[in-house]
Amino acid sequence: MQNNNTRRNGFQSLVHWFDTDHGNEDVAAIRAKPDKVEFIRVLPFVLLHLGCLGVFLTGWSWTAVGITVLLYFVRMFAITGFYHRYFSHKTFQTSRPAQFLFALLGATAVQRGPLWWSYQHRHHHRHSDEDEDVHSPTIRGFWWSHIGWITSARNFPTDYSQVRDLAKFPELVFLNRFDTLVPILFATGLFGLGHFLAVNYPGLGVTSWQLLVWGFFISTTLLFHATSCINSMAHLLGRRRYDTGDNSRNSFLLAIITLGEGWHNNHHRYMNTVRQGFYWWEIDVSYYLLKALSWTGLIWNLKPVPLSAYEHTHSVRETHPLPARDSNHA
Ligand SMILES: [Zn+2]
Ligand SMILES: [Zn+2]
Repeated sequence: MQNNNTRRNGFQSLVHWFDTDHGNEDVAAIRAKPDKVEFIRVLPFVLLHLGCLGVFLTGWSWTAVGITVLLYFVRMFAITGFYHRYFSHKTFQTSRPAQFLFALLGATAVQRGPLWWSYQHRHHHRHSDEDEDVHSPTIRGFWWSHIGWITSARNFPTDYSQVRDLAKFPELVFLNRFDTLVPILFATGLFGLGHFLAVNYPGLGVTSWQLLVWGFFISTTLLFHATSCINSMAHLLGRRRYDTGDNSRNSFLLAIITLGEGWHNNHHRYMNTVRQGFYWWEIDVSYYLLKALSWTGLIWNLKPVPLSAYEHTHSVRETHPLPARDSNHA
């Protein structure tokens, strides 16, 4: 019986690589299960990291490195600007076609579909650093918050009832349900581009396999770890400006590598504002890019930082649980 169950679960996990909604009708029941690292969900991460070692076979070229860096930043912006600040928090408005394009671009980051991402992220804000928080480093430790939680079957399904505002768009539900489709097309496209460059511009020293290794595997692995640092490091490292009741922190370093997401304590206090760096020195590249997009008319109604955000006079203490007031001036 036990064996049958294990086999059935293993088969279902495999089907999930192609259809993430298969057998997930009762999300509440799945969510109620205990956390457990599931081998079949670890496998994609193992393959992603192993793919990076392909560099020893393909070598490198300036073109491949340049494309890798470009794809890292473009897709980081898609995650922060669209998956996070648009789909999860609705900090600005856009048209339905643009919304679909944003979802498509976000899906190339290989961080699953926009509805799953938003559902998990909204849940994090509601229960930040409490027992229910699925990726709290203070409750479950660094590695669980960084990667472990994604491998647990109970965190796999999307609870569409928690993202009704997004689930009313069938095109978004489609991208969410078949969430390996865009990454496969993206990787194939890079392979094809590498072939095109090799044939037409042999002087660049690019091959199809080289571009796949650099543009897909290396770029996506870096992107994954940088994004995951917001779940792990941004609740451990840095300063706290606001008493948010959780351990969210502001970190310049994390803000640089994630295009502005490192101002995580600001964000946990004012999650509905499009901007996460509240001062000129709090570099927030995603905000600058979104502001520039608003000038084109593609997005509008960017929600500003409320004046109350500037009324703080001190940083709060570094420990959790946090006192309401603190005389420790920053
Ligand atoms: Zn957080
Ligand atoms: Zn958020």
